Amino acid sequence: MRSTFEAQRAAFAREMLPSLDVRRDRLERALRMTQKHQGAIADAISADFGHRSRQETDLTEIFLVLSGIRHARRHVAKWMRPRRVATPPHMWPARSGIVPQPLGAVGVISPWNYPFQLGMLPALGALAAGNRVLLKPSELTPSFSGLLRESVAEFFADDEFAVVVGDVEVGRAFSQLPFDHLFFTGSTAVGREIALAAAANLTPVTLELGGKSPAIIDADCDVGVAAPRIAFGKLMNAGQTCVAPDYLLVPRGRVDELVAAITAAATAMYPSFAANADYTSIVSDRHYARLGRLVADAETRGAKAIRIDPAGETAPAAARKFFPTLLVGVDDEMAVMREEIFGPVLPIVAYDTLDDAILYVNRHPRPLALYWFGGSAANRDRVLSSTISGGVTVNDACWHVAQENLPFGGVGASGSGAYHGEQSFRTFSKDKPVFYQARLNGFGLFRPPYGRRFDAMIALLKRFF
Ligand code: NAD
Repeated sequence: MRSTFEAQRAAFAREMLPSLDVRRDRLERALRMTQKHQGAIADAISADFGHRSRQETDLTEIFLVLSGIRHARRHVAKWMRPRRVATPPHMWPARSGIVPQPLGAVGVISPWNYPFQLGMLPALGALAAGNRVLLKPSELTPSFSGLLRESVAEFFADDEFAVVVGDVEVGRAFSQLPFDHLFFTGSTAVGREIALAAAANLTPVTLELGGKSPAIIDADCDVGVAAPRIAFGKLMNAGQTCVAPDYLLVPRGRVDELVAAITAAATAMYPSFAANADYTSIVSDRHYARLGRLVADAETRGAKAIRIDPAGETAPAAARKFFPTLLVGVDDEMAVMREEIFGPVLPIVAYDTLDDAILYVNRHPRPLALYWFGGSAANRDRVLSSTISGGVTVNDACWHVAQENLPFGGVGASGSGAYHGEQSFRTFSKDKPVFYQARLNGFGLFRPPYGRRFDAMIALLKRFF
C-alpha cells in the first residue's frame, strides 16, 4: 500500500498537469472497465449481500457510474480551463485568474452499501481533475472488492489508479498515509477517526457520512402519491441507503392513513419478500441482528411494530431478508430514534403543527437528506429555509443524489465537502488564484516613505472601494 502510494506520488510529480487527452483516456478506460465487468460486478455484490437485486445494481451503481463518467468526459475540458475574474479598478491594468490544478495522490475509502458507485464516483472525479487515486473499498463486500482490484489493475497502471483491499486495520493504516486529499464515505463514528488521522498530516478531507434523514409529511399531502415514493426510497437496497428516509414526521391525525398507504405501496412493489429476487438481503448477520434488536427495543418501550408480510411467509434468518417494519408510537428514548437505522424499519413520529415538525428536525444532528411531501409552496419554502440538511428532494425521496448537476454531501454530523459532477472536479482540484501584474502600474504609491500622497490615496480607497 505504501509503495503504491509512493509510486503514485512520484508519477504525479512527473506529470503535474495531465492534458485533456490523458484525462479523457483515463475516463474512457473507466467506462470500458464498467461496461466489461458490469455483470460480474452485480454477481459479486449479490454474493456479498447474500442477495442483491440485479436491477438495483444496474440502476444505482452501474448506470450512475456510467453517466458520471460520461458527464465528466463531456465537461472536463471546460472545468479545467483557467478562468478570468474581474480585477478591482485600483489594481488595473493587472489581470486576475483562477487556474485549476490537480492535488496529487488522492485516497478514497468507501463503504459496503453501494460499493461500486461510492468508490468509483469519487475516484473518477479525482481522475478527471488530474490526480492519482488509491481506493480502499469495504471488507464487508470481499468478492466485490477483490473483483474491483483486478478490474482496475486490468485497465490502469498501479501508479495511476489502484485498489487496496483489507479490513479496519488496513483502513487505519490507509488513513494515515500523507495523501493530498482523503475522501471518506462511511459512518459518522469512523468519519471522526478519519478526520483525526488525516489531521496528523494536515491532509484535507471530504467526509460523506450518515445520520437520520427525516421525511416530513405535510397536512395537505396526497398520501396516495407520497406512499409509493417513500416505500421505494426506503426499500431499495432493503433500506441500506445513506439517504433513505430514516423516519417519517406525520400529522397526528393521519398516521393510520399513512401506515395503510405505505403497506399497500410496499405490497404492490413486493407481493412477497422472502422469496422475491427484487428484494435485497441485509449485508451481514450482525446488521440483521442489529435491526431485530432495534425493533424489539422499540416494542419493549411501548411502540407498535407493523411487519409488512403480504404473502404470510417465514423467512429463514440465513437469507437475511428483513421484512419491512413500520413503528408507531416511538419516542426519543428508543434506540431506533437515536441511531441511524440503515435497514427497512420505518418509525413514524406524530406531530401537531408544521412548526413542531421543524423543531423536531432542528433538535437533532443535521441530517444528510430531508424530504418534504405536500402541496403548499409556502410550507415547502418554510421547511427549506428553516432546516439545514445535506440535500433535499421535494415530493419524493433520494433522487437529488442521482444526477451530476447537483452537488452531493452532508453538513455538520452528516459530513463536510461535496462531490458529483463539477463539484467532484473542484473537490479534487486546487483552484489556484493568480495575479498577473502589469509592467506599468501604480503600485509604487503603496510603498514607503509614507507622506501626503499616500494619505490622499488611502483616503480615496477607504471611501470608494
Ligand atoms: P464504516 O464507517 O464502518 O466503514 C467505511 C469504510 O471505512 C470501510 O472501508 C471500512 O473498512 C473503513 N474503516 C472502518 N474503520 C476504519 C478506521 N478506524 N480507519 C479507517 N478506515 C476505517 O461504514 P459502513 O458500515 O461501511 O457504511 C455505512 C455507513 O456509511 C452509514 O453510516 C451510512 O450512512 C454511511 N454512508 C454514507 C454515504 C454518503 O454518501 N454520505 C453513502 C453511503 C453510506
